[in-house]
Amino acid sequence: MIYLDNNATTAIALEVREAMRPFFDDNYFNPSSMYGVAKPVKHAVESARELIAGFLGASYASELLFTSCATESLNAAIFGAIRANPERRHLITTAVEHPAVLEVGKSLQREGFDVSFIGVDRQGNLNLGEFVRELRSDTLLVAVMHANNETGVVFPIERLSRVVKETDPSILFLCDATQSLTKLPIRLDGNFRNVDMLAFSGHKFHSPKGVGGLYLRRGTRCRTFLIGGHQESGRRGGTENVPYIVGMAKAIECAIETHNDDRKRMEYLRNKLETEIVQQIPNVEVNGVGAERMPNTLNIAVHYIEGEGILYQLSDLGICASSGSACTSGSLEPSHVLTAMGVPFTAKHGSVRFSLSRYTTENEIDFVIEKFPEIVARLRRLSPYWDQTTNKPRESQMPIQ
Ligand code: PLP
Repeated sequence: MIYLDNNATTAIALEVREAMRPFFDDNYFNPSSMYGVAKPVKHAVESARELIAGFLGASYASELLFTSCATESLNAAIFGAIRANPERRHLITTAVEHPAVLEVGKSLQREGFDVSFIGVDRQGNLNLGEFVRELRSDTLLVAVMHANNETGVVFPIERLSRVVKETDPSILFLCDATQSLTKLPIRLDGNFRNVDMLAFSGHKFHSPKGVGGLYLRRGTRCRTFLIGGHQESGRRGGTENVPYIVGMAKAIECAIETHNDDRKRMEYLRNKLETEIVQQIPNVEVNGVGAERMPNTLNIAVHYIEGEGILYQLSDLGICASSGSACTSGSLEPSHVLTAMGVPFTAKHGSVRFSLSRYTTENEIDFVIEKFPEIVARLRRLSPYWDQTTNKPRESQMPIQ
C-alpha cells in the first residue's frame, strides 16, 4: 500500500505507540484520584501539557487544554467566545474553512448572527481587502485556518492577526492549525503572538484519533463549552484520555527532533510528483499553485475526467489518495474550497489530493509518477469531453458551468 492521504489522517508512530502502552496497561488510573499509584498518571498528563505548550511557545502550560479533536476545540472556542461576549454578534471566517468552522458559521447565521465568509482568489489566497473591510466595532471573533486541508494553501496568520489587533485588540483571533502543526513554524510568542486561540488534532501528526488541543491565551474571554467535572482547571469537563494525551506529546517530541528535515524531504518529493505530472499529462493544473503551500500537499486538477474514477483506479493499485470534491462521501457537490477558488467545472470534478508524510518514500512517489499518467489516459479514453484522435478536449461537448 502507498498511503498518500495524510491530510485525512496519519499512521501512528511506533514511538507514540510505545509511549502510550503503559497507560493502557498498569497505569490505567484516573489522573484525578488521590492515591499514590495515580500520581504518575497525573504527572504524565501535566508533562505532556508542558511539552506541547513549550513547543507552541505558550507562556503558561495551563493555557493548553486537551480535547478529543480539532472539531471539539474549534466548537469550544467559537461557542465559548460567544457565551462570554453576548453583546457582540458579528464573526469573520473564510469561505474555505473546514466544516468544523464553516458549518458552525452557517449554523450561527441561521440563529441570527452576522457571519462574514471572506473569499479567496484563483490561487486560494485570502482576499485581504475584503478581510480588512469586514472588521467592525461589533466583531467578536475572527476564525481563520492556517493551512487548507484540500489545497495546502497557507494563510498569512501573522499579518491577519496583527491587522485584527491593530484595528481592535478586543476582537478574538482563533486559528485552526490542524493541518499545519508540526509542518509549519508556529510560535505563540513569535509569529502567532496575536493569536488568542489555536486548535489542533493529534491524528494529523502521527498520534491517535480522538485527542486534540485548544490553546487559550491567558485572559481570553471564553466560557466553558463542555461543562462537567473539574478537569482541565474546570474549563473542559471529562476524564482525561491519558494514553492519547501522552501519545500526542510523544508525537510532538518526535516532530521537534525531525520536523525541519521532514519538511524538506516532503517538499522535495511533493515537488517531484507535481513537476512530473504537470510535464507528462496535458490539461492538468495544480490547485493553489503560486500561493504559499504546505510542503506535503499536492492538489491536482485533471480536466475532463472524474476524480472519483481516478481514486478507484489508484486504489486498485494500492495507492490511497483523496478527491477534492465530496463525491466520495456520497454527495455530488463539488468541493467548496475549489468552488470558492473559481476552479472551472471541468477540473473541479477531476481534482485529486495527494498528501505526504515523513514516512513517504521516493520509491512510492516514483510508482505514482509511473502509474498516474496511464490512469488519466485510460479515463480520458472514456470521457465524452476528450477527443482521442487529437488528444485534446472536445470543446463542443463542454458542460454549461
Ligand atoms: N480543521 C482542519 C483544517 C482539518 O483538516 C480537520 C480535519 O481534517 C479538522 C479541522 C477537524 O479535525 P478532526 O476531525 O480531528 O476534528
